[in-house]
Amino acid sequence: MWVTNGLLSGVVFLLAKTDPDADPPYKGMTCFITEKEPGVAENAGEYEGLDIPPKIKKMGYKGVESTELVYEDYRCPSANVLGGEEAGLGQGFRQMMDSLEVGRVNVAARGVGIAQRALELALRYSQERKTFGRQIADHQAIQFKLADMATKVEAARLLTLRAARLKDAGERSDLEAGMAKLFASETGKEVVEDSFRIHGGYGYSKEYEIERLYRDAPLLLIGEGTSEIQRMVIGKKLLSRHRV
Ligand SMILES: Cc1cc2nc3c(=O)[nH]c(=O)nc-3n(C[C@H](O)[C@H](O)[C@H](O)COP(=O)(O)OP(=O)(O)OC[C@H]3O[C@@H](n4cnc5c(N)ncnc54)[C@H](O)[C@@H]3O)c2cc1C
Repeated sequence: MWVTNGLLSGVVFLLAKTDPDADPPYKGMTCFITEKEPGVAENAGEYEGLDIPPKIKKMGYKGVESTELVYEDYRCPSANVLGGEEAGLGQGFRQMMDSLEVGRVNVAARGVGIAQRALELALRYSQERKTFGRQIADHQAIQFKLADMATKVEAARLLTLRAARLKDAGERSDLEAGMAKLFASETGKEVVEDSFRIHGGYGYSKEYEIERLYRDAPLLLIGEGTSEIQRMVIGKKLLSRHRV
């Protein structure tokens, strides 16, 4: 479910349970590199064991497609086990978690980007729109909003840069990636919401870019693990790094 570029992709990393009795269960999961023809039409019945239903209709993030990929009695050669047929067996969960760490920094960066753009739009609109004879940016209520927005964007950017630099240097970054993802995605949503309010009625109109950001921002709260899951990761990692 929810495979980004599921239709266009030529290669799909498929995590499957290969030993349902494994204890703990995550040790019974293996990742397969499965191949398909990029862009072959929905429901074409092109592959044995793989069905691609119509694209999922989404509220936002329409620049990339999202599909379901339904595998049933699907077969792929054992050479396609990620990490090799022997060494890769049962390693799938660890491999996927490793990629999630990079993915979380990626989503954090997208949160910073959306928040930064929403701030720019608010700075511009608040100096264009006049009410009661003054630019709305002259009202302290609006300035306080702008101040909070800019502060959060800066903090989200610094958290994201720190996580990315640790990852780049090959150092442990699980806690930092979780923190960056949690804070930057929540910041994205909050700053977009504030910018939307600053736009007044026009924020609700498709004529203004903020309307699209308003629909795009929530995905970042979900993709690569929800905020609740980030808090679980952060809590666990904190306790393991500070054991008494
Ligand atoms: C547009 C889009 C693109 C995506 N692309 C991909 C992709 O390319 N590849 C991919 O693998 N996935 C992709 N996803 C899936 C995405 O990673 C999941 O949707 C996300 O991790 C949430 O999982 P879920 O939908 O199963 O929600 P659920 O796990 O059902 O969560 C529902 C709610 O319960 C909460 N919850 C769940 N478990 C706990 C817990 N233990 N404790 C407390 N709260 C909990 C969640 O935080 C959430 O609020 C995509 C999703 C979207 C929307």
